[in-house]
Amino acid sequence: MRTAVVVGAGIGGIAAAGALARTGWQVTLLERDDRLRPGRGALVLWPNGVRALRGLGLAGGLDGIATPVPPVGIRRPDGQWLVRPGAVADDVESPPVVVHREDLHDAFIAGLGEQVDIRSGIEVQPARVHRERPAVGDGRVTFEADLIVAADGVQSAVRRRLAPTTSFASAGVAAWRAVIPWYRVPDLPPGLPDHGETLDAGHRFSHASLGDRGSSGGSTRGGISWVATVPGALRPEPPAGQLALLRRWFAGWHAPIPQLLAATEPDDLVQEPIGELTPLPETFGVRAGSGGYALIGDAAHAMPHHLAQGACLALEDVATLQAVLTASRGALPPALDEYSRLRRPRATRVLLQTRKASAVLYPRGGLTSRAVGAALGRANPRTLDKAAAAAAEWSGPTSA
Ligand SMILES: Cc1cc2nc3c(=O)[nH]c(=O)nc-3n(C[C@H](O)[C@H](O)[C@H](O)COP(=O)(O)OP(=O)(O)OC[C@H]3O[C@@H](n4cnc5c(N)ncnc54)[C@H](O)[C@@H]3O)c2cc1C
Repeated sequence: MRTAVVVGAGIGGIAAAGALARTGWQVTLLERDDRLRPGRGALVLWPNGVRALRGLGLAGGLDGIATPVPPVGIRRPDGQWLVRPGAVADDVESPPVVVHREDLHDAFIAGLGEQVDIRSGIEVQPARVHRERPAVGDGRVTFEADLIVAADGVQSAVRRRLAPTTSFASAGVAAWRAVIPWYRVPDLPPGLPDHGETLDAGHRFSHASLGDRGSSGGSTRGGISWVATVPGALRPEPPAGQLALLRRWFAGWHAPIPQLLAATEPDDLVQEPIGELTPLPETFGVRAGSGGYALIGDAAHAMPHHLAQGACLALEDVATLQAVLTASRGALPPALDEYSRLRRPRATRVLLQTRKASAVLYPRGGLTSRAVGAALGRANPRTLDKAAAAAAEWSGPTSA
């Protein structure tokens, strides 16, 4: 039986471990945390992400947990339209969906089956990644396998060893996400849309409903999810201080933004570093002896969240890896070459689209709100529309 070690139990790692186990591999999943934890907040899954889940046989797991996101347009802080709904990214063939990360995590855990050996509390060290044979270790135990899947996120220890010239460069913005459970969501003024996006000079706030209040449909962990992005570095304050800053920065913005921030509690908040890997690793598939390494998800191509594609790309990676391994009939090194041939150009394209979106959303030089509006007006649909649609364009595991 072929063996695989998957490093990192985020979305990419759990999906990869399940996909390999379901296709007959003996899989060990290593996670540095003391247990497998779902990330917090919610994720938008674009049609490409849903297609990847379908390729992995996991799309059924979205039943009852995914809420469609209609075109929302973009507003100014005073509520006026910068871009009316339908002008941005409405030519993708189906709307994206939003899903609570805990719900997605549960669906993936169910897809792991009984075959995966889960080892938590194991932090792989870069110095313990062997280039000449597929093996990783934490300094105490060494794990050898035919295939090592590096799914250990933006600061990947495996990538640091295999692609040492790649590093993480901050995008100069900080971002927070949160989900407010329905029981804490305040009564909002009638007629407000369930989803929205609002933009000012460098500040961005988007929100989406996870299911309907009081209904059993939609997410089983329903509520309102929001993401806020502001210029600057990660904030060092404790969560309560960060929340106070967010309330101040977004004070005076149109409803329901201040109301949602007022209903948010410090424990709901997750602050994350935003940036990209530069340069991207030369290859996402590294040969080692008769096997090798595959880099997936943020470990391979972390990028800012402006097009909400990171998790979708991780799922594409897994669907592609599974497809090339199945097609290779046991010849691992060429399968890894093929994996990289398909995935690196695709990730590069989405990264370029993300940079274009970033230039419009967060222009350097601190444009005023009016200038941002003008930039958006000029760029749309050429830039934002094209960026969102191009990123979501992916026709399946064998397409680059
Ligand atoms: C604000 C924000 C909003 C976003 N919104 C969206 C969205 O709407 N849609 C979307 O598709 N994407 C979105 N993304 C991107 C998405 O969250 C990430 O791309 C995705 O979660 C990456 O998954 P991953 O499995 O590759 O990495 P991670 O989720 O980072 O998982 C890595 C795992 O590896 C473990 N690990 C790390 N190092 C080691 C080690 N040395 N040894 C063992 N284990 C290790 C970690 O503990 C973790 O469990 C967003 C990102 C941000 C910041």
